[in-house]
Amino acid sequence: MKTVRVELGERSYDIVIAPGARARVGELCKKLGLGSRCLVVTDRTVGPLYGRAVVESLQQAGFAAETVEIEPGEEAKTLDTLRGLYDEMLLKELDRKSFVVALGGGVVGDVAGYAAATYMRGIPVVQVPTTVVAQVDASVGGKTGVNLPQGKNLVGAFHQPRLVVVDPETLYTLEERDLRAGFSEVVKHAVIRDAAHFAWLEAHVVAFMGLDLPSLEEAIAQSCRIKAAVVAADEREAGLRAILNFGHTVGHALEALTGYGAFRHGEAIAIGMACAAVLSVAVNHAPKEDGARVVALLDRAGLPTTFSGLETGAILEQIRRDKKVEEQRLRLVLMDRIGQVSIVPGVDAKALAAAIEARRADTTEPEARP
Ligand code: NAD
Repeated sequence: MKTVRVELGERSYDIVIAPGARARVGELCKKLGLGSRCLVVTDRTVGPLYGRAVVESLQQAGFAAETVEIEPGEEAKTLDTLRGLYDEMLLKELDRKSFVVALGGGVVGDVAGYAAATYMRGIPVVQVPTTVVAQVDASVGGKTGVNLPQGKNLVGAFHQPRLVVVDPETLYTLEERDLRAGFSEVVKHAVIRDAAHFAWLEAHVVAFMGLDLPSLEEAIAQSCRIKAAVVAADEREAGLRAILNFGHTVGHALEALTGYGAFRHGEAIAIGMACAAVLSVAVNHAPKEDGARVVALLDRAGLPTTFSGLETGAILEQIRRDKKVEEQRLRLVLMDRIGQVSIVPGVDAKALAAAIEARRADTTEPEARP
């Protein structure tokens, strides 16, 4: 068992990482002095797989636990789903001392977390994430929320969990594509803060993708340590936390231009990180070898690092829309070297265009890539 502490003063909490931990949620919650009633929020895919173990462990620990399942996937991250959760919370008579257990991927974590943040002006939430994205990213840091038709995550709140329980065994049932997409976030964390962990990932990428438990446990724990340190330094994204957006400028643009249907988030971020690596070498003096290592690790994990079918001009337009800037210079997170990034305020849009062009599969000569 590994424990990572997220240091946030009176809002500090533990991330407990252990194979089989889903059956220990109750015992772990018992130590927190929570009320006796809780609602396990999960989705129709994860519920039948892991709901019973979690609910039984809560009941064995003396909690009155009930379950509600939402539809799986991003489409469920809506105000309608939230409304349904409030109805269930009232029906199950949750009061201000009750708590929510969010069992599932990032969608469940975000929507259940936001329900907990707002129900009766806020009740505790315990996150039990079951995708890599949720285990290393969404469950840690307290961002919760839902989408609006106008855009993603437009309604939300910071609401730190009281505890995060990560069971790497739950990844056995995850679609391989989701496992890969989650690995993209693991790579991102290593690139921004931890060169030694990056080297470790280079040596363990095959084991991770092969679901080797000790490798999953170590990768998740170290990734959580990195995210926890960034969140502890900047809980509300006033500055440093923005480094977690490495690869996101181009990644978000690709997602938006393809209607959020073509790529998993982690896949779009992998292409975004490949572009950021090229740009870091070109304008931020990052060693060429480091840029190449980032792309090579993503490639070895089977993640996309090139794209086709979209105009570079359209991608730049989308970036300007996202960042709400008209001028030719952009603020981007770039690599100084593996393990360290900077927020670079005045990146020339032409240099960004060249980096995007370098990762275009339909026109790029392989030797032009880092
Ligand atoms: P997801 O929650 O949609 O899960 C992906 C799919 O996998 C779903 O169909 C789900 O039912 C299924 N699934 C989950 N766990 C499973 C398991 N163990 N076995 C089999 N199937 C399983 O997607 P995600 O990638 O986990 O999360 C993406 C969401 O997280 C996005 O909405 C994103 O905005 C959000 N997010 C939030 C933060 C944050 O800081 N709050 C950070 C990153 C991402």
